[in-house]
Amino acid sequence: MKPISELFPSLSSPKKVVITTHQKPDADAMGSSLALCQYLTKKGHNVTVISPTNWAGWVSWMNGASAVINYEKQKDKADSILDNTELLFCLDFNAFHRTKSLAEKLAKVSCIKILIDHHQEPDLPSFHFGVSDTSKSSTSEMIYDLIKEAGDLSLIDISISECIYAGLVGDTGSFRFASAHAGVHAIVADLKSRGLDHGRIHEGLYDNFLENRLRFIGHVLLHRMEIFYEYNTALITIPKSDLLKFQIKTGDTDGLVNYPQSIQGIKMVALVIDRDEERKWSFRSKGSFDCNTFARTYFEGGGHFNAAGGRSSDSIEQTVARFKEVIKTQSSLF
Ligand code: 5GP
Ligand code: MN
Repeated sequence: MKPISELFPSLSSPKKVVITTHQKPDADAMGSSLALCQYLTKKGHNVTVISPTNWAGWVSWMNGASAVINYEKQKDKADSILDNTELLFCLDFNAFHRTKSLAEKLAKVSCIKILIDHHQEPDLPSFHFGVSDTSKSSTSEMIYDLIKEAGDLSLIDISISECIYAGLVGDTGSFRFASAHAGVHAIVADLKSRGLDHGRIHEGLYDNFLENRLRFIGHVLLHRMEIFYEYNTALITIPKSDLLKFQIKTGDTDGLVNYPQSIQGIKMVALVIDRDEERKWSFRSKGSFDCNTFARTYFEGGGHFNAAGGRSSDSIEQTVARFKEVIKTQSSLF
């Protein structure tokens, strides 16, 4: 993979561009994609954003979200756009398999592929150009950097600044994680000086659910959470029946994994959801427990040091039993 700066000359004339991101895009995935889309459109390019799957209501307010193509719903249209694109930007994921049913197409398509991402262990040979930097708080920060490097900060309007800010907020846990370094706050200061109304974004991301979701959280914390004080670990197990009973939609379970972190002594939280096609794991830690390695070693996943995800094709009972076994071997938790 060559440095992204070597791609810049080919952006000096209008290009057909596709931007894609990981499945079930979160605030950073959607925010970075739509910020880049708006910026490249202003530069005269013809840009389409393709999401591998549907997305949560709490990212739908972003400018441009309604034009995003859902690959699962509009596969033929997306395939033909991909067949004709010149540049493919891959944002906020490190390997094609993170895009689920879109992965095969991304691997096959013959255009120039560009990676912009902050996850560990990227699959570099899959991309021609790019930037992979795990010290970045978010891919949205990297889009801001790219616009700045191109000398185009003046093109950041309120709508672009809202998308970038949403990604920063989402991936730094509202500026709480260590990844919220001084440069992140400097970006926020710059976005504010361009007219960003930050309160609106927090409302869009966090005050944008239906009643059933809050009642679901109450139910889950009461009945589905186990605490293992000897391993400083909390586990939440959500059966399929809960998802049906509370009519849980895409995005409704986001953030749930953070609640047990408020318990004194808890260093690691695991959440597993019984989805139709797989058991989906989320891991969060404080301090020295490495979620990325844990997810990679035991649950076919990965991500960041303090936040990672994984999956299993075992039954919910089997995968939970495995978790309870392997957690006993993780000495950085004791
Ligand atoms: P979440 O728990 O919010 O789904 O994911 C936490 C972090 O881990 C995110 O940065 C996400 O992109 C990453 N992640 C989640 N699931 C997987 C996975 O199965 N594989 C890899 N490599 N990363 C994942
Ligand atoms: Mn991200």
